[in-house]
Amino acid sequence: MDDISRREKKRITSKGVRALRTQPGWDPANYRSPDPQDALQSLAAAGAQHRAYADASDCSMCQAERQRTKDDTALCEVHLLEALGL
Ligand SMILES: [Zn+2]
Repeated sequence: MDDISRREKKRITSKGVRALRTQPGWDPANYRSPDPQDALQSLAAAGAQHRAYADASDCSMCQAERQRTKDDTALCEVHLLEALGL
C-alpha cells in the first residue's frame, strides 16, 4: 500500500532487521544484501516460504539443487521464486 509513509516503512524495516539479528545463526557477514528493504521482504516472504518448502520437498529439481549445493534448504529456481513470493 502506498499510503504507508516512507518513515513508517523505514521504522517497520529496522524493526524487522532487529528481529532478524536476534535469530540464532544470523551472520551479517554472510548476508550479501545490506539493503534493509530486502530483509523486510524476506520476513514478509517467510510465510510463503513455508508453503514453498512443503511443495519443494517432493520436487526432484529441488533435491538435485540440494545435493549440488550441499544445502538442505536449497530450492530450484521455480520454488525459489515461489518462496520469494514472485
Ligand atoms: Zn523445486
